[in-house]
Amino acid sequence: MSVVRLTNYIAGIAQAPASLEYLNVIQPATGEVHAEVPVSSSQDVEAAVQSGREAFPGWSRLPAAERAGYLLRLADLIERDVDSLARAESDDTGKPLSLARSLDIPRASANLRYFAAAAQAFHSESHPTPSAIQYTLRKPLGVVASISPWNLPLYLLTWKFAPALAVGNTVIAKPSELTPVTATRLSALCQEAKLPPGVLNIVHGPGAVSGQALVDHPAVAAISFTGGTVTGKAIAVSAASTLKKFSLELGGKNPTLIFADCDYEVALTTSVRAAFANQGEICLCGSRIYVEQSIYERFLQDFVERTSRLIVGDPLDPETDLGAVISEPHLQKLERFAQVARDEGGTIHCGGRRLALSGRCAKGSFFAPTVVSGLGTTCHFNQAEIFGPLVSILPFASDADVVEQANGTPYGLSASLWTRNLARGHRIADALEAGVVWVNCWMVRDLRTPFGGMKQSGMGREGGQESLRFFTEPKNVCVHFGE
Ligand code: NAD
Repeated sequence: MSVVRLTNYIAGIAQAPASLEYLNVIQPATGEVHAEVPVSSSQDVEAAVQSGREAFPGWSRLPAAERAGYLLRLADLIERDVDSLARAESDDTGKPLSLARSLDIPRASANLRYFAAAAQAFHSESHPTPSAIQYTLRKPLGVVASISPWNLPLYLLTWKFAPALAVGNTVIAKPSELTPVTATRLSALCQEAKLPPGVLNIVHGPGAVSGQALVDHPAVAAISFTGGTVTGKAIAVSAASTLKKFSLELGGKNPTLIFADCDYEVALTTSVRAAFANQGEICLCGSRIYVEQSIYERFLQDFVERTSRLIVGDPLDPETDLGAVISEPHLQKLERFAQVARDEGGTIHCGGRRLALSGRCAKGSFFAPTVVSGLGTTCHFNQAEIFGPLVSILPFASDADVVEQANGTPYGLSASLWTRNLARGHRIADALEAGVVWVNCWMVRDLRTPFGGMKQSGMGREGGQESLRFFTEPKNVCVHFGE
């Protein structure tokens, strides 16, 4: 296999890192090195910040419709290249190609299209009185940073930089060092779309080096971060020293609540998908499934049966349900959690182990989808974010009981609940400590809605007006015209 040496994208130019150092990027499904990612230092970050600063006055003064035009051109190019981008995303992450083709890449262009339109409709307020008018300007912040994870690489990268650019900021994006390929492809598309140099810069490298340099840079005005809770807290501490604005989208341990009166078949099918989509490596996956006592045994049996039918395989095979997990270290973490389930007294009904595939995937990182029962909410297995295809099924006795259990972790990102009694649906949705609650559905997204977590799952919200507000600063002007 040929190994591609990736570049940073600074001032509109594809560039090697100042250090000339690179890290290997391993394809999770094959275990082979398929790219080398730059290890960017503070020198590269400095160059990116300078180029962002130089581009800012021109970009921020463009009419919103012109900025939107660039984003729309980029969306067109992403759609033109959907097949090759999907293949690159699947190779980099191990996710099924079918998922990258149907979810990741279409969502990347949808992000650009949505924020191109939303920024043009973004309005501010005015407060008139008989003698004065107060009006609020929304000013772009300047050079802002976006730091994103490996599970939805281009999807989350575009989710962050699209609103930032649309309202007039310039951006330095740092993708995950584990999945840098589609971001590098994007830089070529930016050149093709003739995005002015310096408006979007992409700096690659490990979080502790390249990401930290970005967080520490005094001229970076804000950080939009998606990743793990531990990293998010460290970023918050660093950002405090230069008083940067930040938004943190962090980990989750999301509950799925199955009431006896639900539409059983839809709830079962969707909760299996919610547990194992993208190998369970979506922050919104439902990993604690609470089932009302009267249908618990039946649901457990059916859930295990459906899970056992899922096909773990080559991401390129259209029949594959679960591809490879992100890396060998992550696979080892999943094995440790299967052991935690055993040690804590849980029953593993299926999975609980790595899988050996043959052919081109013989050295890949695959884990069997795993269903555990018999563990209480307070067990470590049910408290920690595992971020893989391992779920726990637990019984509950009453509405009050399930709300207490569902809220009984440090996280509060999302929840999904299943009942035909909509009054109960509203009541429980109100009581759950989660930033996003789905009733009788899962992961039905609308880009206009606020997205983010409570408690240890984050700080701030993205989506719609929330993103546009985050990337702008309100400035109030009072004009007095009376006596
Ligand atoms: P991570 O925290 O290890 O890394 C995320 C990004 O931060 C990467 O680009 C990494 O290089 C960078 N980084 C690491 N240390 C840094 C530092 N000191 N300074 C600056 N940047 C640094 O997370 P991950 O393993 O890539 O992603 C998985 C996590 O992301 C899970 O916890 C998952 O729940 C979370 N996630 C959350 C959401 C959400 O919307 N809430 C969405 C997707 C993923």
